[in-house]
Amino acid sequence: MKSTAEIVIIGAGIMGCAIAHALAERGQTDVVVLEQDQIGRGATADAAGGIRQQFSTETNIRLATYSVRVWETYHERFGIDIGLRQQGYLFLLNDAREEPVFRRNLALQQSLGVPSRWVSAAEIAAINPTVVLDDVVGGTFCPEDGWCDTFGATVGFAQAARRLGVSIEEETPVTGIQVERDRVRAVETPHGTIATPLVIVCAGPHSRRVGALAGAELPVDPFRRMCFITEPFDLAPSTLPMTIEFASGLYFHPESRGFLFGMGDRTEGSSFTKTVDESWMLTTVEALVNRAPIFADANVMRGWAGFYEITPDDNPLLGHVDGPDGLAVAAGFSGHGFMQGPAIGACLAELILDGAASTVDITPFRPSRFAEGAPVAEHNVI
Ligand SMILES: Cc1cc2nc3c(=O)[nH]c(=O)nc-3n(C[C@H](O)[C@H](O)[C@H](O)COP(=O)(O)OP(=O)(O)OC[C@H]3O[C@@H](n4cnc5c(N)ncnc54)[C@H](O)[C@@H]3O)c2cc1C
Repeated sequence: MKSTAEIVIIGAGIMGCAIAHALAERGQTDVVVLEQDQIGRGATADAAGGIRQQFSTETNIRLATYSVRVWETYHERFGIDIGLRQQGYLFLLNDAREEPVFRRNLALQQSLGVPSRWVSAAEIAAINPTVVLDDVVGGTFCPEDGWCDTFGATVGFAQAARRLGVSIEEETPVTGIQVERDRVRAVETPHGTIATPLVIVCAGPHSRRVGALAGAELPVDPFRRMCFITEPFDLAPSTLPMTIEFASGLYFHPESRGFLFGMGDRTEGSSFTKTVDESWMLTTVEALVNRAPIFADANVMRGWAGFYEITPDDNPLLGHVDGPDGLAVAAGFSGHGFMQGPAIGACLAELILDGAASTVDITPFRPSRFAEGAPVAEHNVI
């Protein structure tokens, strides 16, 4: 392992790998990524792979839109097939108070070039004939949205970064961050110490703990979320979009020869419990069958649990931290990070190399916003 680096990135999930790659592509190859486990095995591996542009803030829409263009061209750029399926995201609204909010957000998305649109119950029935519409007031649909393989996408960034000269050290936990005279000096691992003037925390749900190693408070907390996958199931068409019942957060989409589905238990507190709760699985199955009765005939093949990395306003912390000089962060994506990885890579590289991000203005997500009393609310959180 190298003993010095211009930049040390902590965490080799989608963020750490995308940022390392973007830095290297811009010519900064003196970068070491330290990963306590293996590349792409954290929250990124547990994600449902969803990619959407239907957000409520300009910053999130722009981050998503830039990223979609990268996902669409990923195979030719990185040589890895990430199985991108642009079958759309369909939001179902069963609370009439959501209609004006979603229509406002649609107008914002459309003004930024997103082909999302309002859909009536009749149009929803044509897009997804499996769903019960008795209580549905309408919805929104964006045909460019979809999903892909999160692990392959992360490995693609990691391999490309390595080819450009970046070192990625797996099985190498960061156990300490040395700070002298209010400046970051080095990171400590069981395999040695790396002297560096700049550390970027990309530790996903673990970012609060990692920030604390340098005396910084990063308000990112882990919340368990579970996903389930059915056995091969051909009674529902494999061409269905990602379908989301916005009020409950229930979602499902075709995956392999079956369907992937999930729903967050919003009453559960923060923890690092990573087991599947069978009673929540039954609650989720019941919600799925209520919304799409055809799934009463499907069998659950397996389930898993992972962590959302939630901040107080459901938006990430991006940029230099209020703390020692030389500490930056890209974490706290609150359950919608994977899809934004390409844009976050570009923006963080610009922030570090140019002093400000130009791909997307990410200053609304500066880590100091909470202390300044300037949180940014994201409405479309699943
Ligand atoms: C069930 C579920 C479904 C989701 N669905 C979606 C979705 O459909 N679409 C979407 O965009 N997002 C989704 N997400 C969210 C998405 O997974 C995250 O926002 C994203 O993967 C975060 O990436 P990351 O690189 O910040 O974190 P991670 O992937 O967790 O990477 C952080 C890495 O840091 C490492 N690390 C931590 N501490 C240390 C240390 N001390 N030293 C060294 N390494 C360390 C970890 O091992 C880990 O590999 C979902 C999440 C879950 C749990």
